[in-house]
Amino acid sequence: MSDGLVLIVEDEDAIREMVRVTLETASFEVLDAADAGQAVRLLADHRPDIILMDWMLPGISGVDLTRRIRRDDALREIPIIMLTARGEENSKVVGLEAGVDDYVTKPFSTRELIARIKAVMRRSGAHQGEALEFAGGLTLDPARHRVRANGASLEIGPTEFRLLQFFMSHPERVYSRGQLLDQVWGRNVYIEERTVDVHIRRLRQALEPSGFDTLVQTVRGVGYRLSTQP
Ligand code: CA
Repeated sequence: MSDGLVLIVEDEDAIREMVRVTLETASFEVLDAADAGQAVRLLADHRPDIILMDWMLPGISGVDLTRRIRRDDALREIPIIMLTARGEENSKVVGLEAGVDDYVTKPFSTRELIARIKAVMRRSGAHQGEALEFAGGLTLDPARHRVRANGASLEIGPTEFRLLQFFMSHPERVYSRGQLLDQVWGRNVYIEERTVDVHIRRLRQALEPSGFDTLVQTVRGVGYRLSTQP
């Protein structure tokens, strides 16, 4: 199972590639962008669990992009770790003021980077809500990013995790595809509604071994709900 979706924004190809390989090896999913423009385009379609933000980027700087993300209702909760170069001590202060959660100084060891990512994700998990339980056996722990069925851990992707978290926070209520897009993906006009169907299917597949997949119900002509009622 994935430990989370990481977006790295870094213009130096070698560092970006190194970080990508490191994180993928550590079982994270990775998106990468070489500049702020690419990052913004990715953020229109994806909701990463954490962003690694280089300080010095061509065009819009890392700190300006951070400020922009912090002003955006759909993105402001995403934790950000700033990547700074040695000697940019001042940038750490500015970065923290702009809303980064932590920073890592280059060159960094892969072990240090992963430890920081996990620590920041753990901390931010506290803001993502309490552990949830449904149907007497399905549990979701945002802080640990874990879903269990009758105690057994399930393999679930980051988007399916958020979808399930939303459903478990709002059980028995029907949501249209558009409402789910707004709530789970953030308001975004570029994602087609059938994307929701794809992730509903994946969510059911993730729950299938446990038998909880039947709780994710299609309500014809309306949308989807999580329900214990047939
Ligand atoms: Ca750079």
